[in-house]
Amino acid sequence: MASKLCDYCKSATATLFCRVDSAFLCSNCDSKIHATNKLASRHARVWLCEVCEQAPAHFTCKADAAALCVTCDHDIHSANPLARRHERVPITPVRQLGSCRQAQRGR
Ligand SMILES: [Zn+2]
Ligand SMILES: [Zn+2]
Ligand SMILES: [Zn+2]
Ligand SMILES: [Zn+2]
Repeated sequence: MASKLCDYCKSATATLFCRVDSAFLCSNCDSKIHATNKLASRHARVWLCEVCEQAPAHFTCKADAAALCVTCDHDIHSANPLARRHERVPITPVRQLGSCRQAQRGR
């Protein structure tokens, strides 16, 4: 399966999914689109599934340290009894990518 292309430039591989725009974006277009104004920078964005790279990730598996979409999460974790015990947490959308480091600097 080929990697998902960015919905905006249609040339780069998408790395993020914006839930508000329901668009797959590469990191370049993401910063272009979401850095334009304050409202856009608040859009909740999630990483793409690390396994299929076709769908937005919904869970992070702590054991695998991987972001997974609903389908891959099911596929991987129903495969055997050991995998079924992996602890998964719902993914938290990232906001203001790249500026989070600056925000923490005040401490
Ligand atoms: Zn793009
Ligand atoms: Zn957006
Ligand atoms: Zn997947
Ligand atoms: Zn797992």
